[in-house]
Amino acid sequence: MEAEKTGKRFVGKVAIVTASTQGIGFAIAQRLGFEGASLVISSRKQKNVDEAVEKLRGKGIEVLGVVCHVSNSQHRKNLIEKTLQKYGRIDVIVSNAAANPSVDSILETKESILDKLWDINVKASILLLQDAVAHLQKGSSVVLISSITAFNPPAGMSMYGVTKTALLGLTKALAAEMAPNTRVNCVAPGFVPTHFAEFLTKSDEMRNSLVEKTLLNRLGKTEDMASATAFLASDDAAYITGETLVVAGGMPSRL
Ligand code: NAP
Repeated sequence: MEAEKTGKRFVGKVAIVTASTQGIGFAIAQRLGFEGASLVISSRKQKNVDEAVEKLRGKGIEVLGVVCHVSNSQHRKNLIEKTLQKYGRIDVIVSNAAANPSVDSILETKESILDKLWDINVKASILLLQDAVAHLQKGSSVVLISSITAFNPPAGMSMYGVTKTALLGLTKALAAEMAPNTRVNCVAPGFVPTHFAEFLTKSDEMRNSLVEKTLLNRLGKTEDMASATAFLASDDAAYITGETLVVAGGMPSRL
């Protein structure tokens, strides 16, 4: 999607997107930027941050890049401080970082991997919001990025899926804690061929089996996730909080 085809729902607003130098996070950042947001993008590697900043600036987007490994407390605090120093406010936070370090069954997953999954996929979102909450504007919005695997964690990604299930509960609980000033919602993407999902989407056989699970006969695009996230973050969703939007081409999720 190009800038001229989007609305302008985020003019005058400041948005932080974590893990946003490629894939779904980058697409979300770009979409919010096209719609007028001043952006703060971040990820672990300075080089990736610099390249993503350059790409977004090349599209006319106002953006600050900060290195932030989401499970590093100093990095998280620095992300919020740099945002406030440069833009003086926070209107939108999209918590998008996740790790999927193992294909082991839950009962065979090492404790260190269980800790890493919890730290990055769940705890880091909570701690980032603890740092940010005092600075969130009235009418602000948080979007957590979960996964279709949250609903029925599949073999090979089961513990990762369970951490994504936790985000559905976290969305409800934080929506109650942060109301009425801040809305908290969640996007549960289906399968999108990014670097993260390469192990699932690179072989034709695996890819086709995932496509067959959709009603719309295709995998997701990063832009599909970006438009859903932008909707939930925007005032178009002003009466929606504590909800999860499944963006998975009709894959089985829930009633
Ligand atoms: P991706 O294309 O591989 O991009 C990952 C991004 O996260 C990169 O910018 C990476 O940059 C950054 N990153 C990785 N670990 C980080 C950390 N610990 N702290 C900060 N940044 C980190 O991944 P993606 O597919 O867009 O996934 C994004 C989110 O969507 C995840 O929450 C994932 O669970 C969810 N999701 C994806 C799919 C899918 O099929 N792709 C489906 C459902 C849900 P650096 O290397 O520089 O850190």
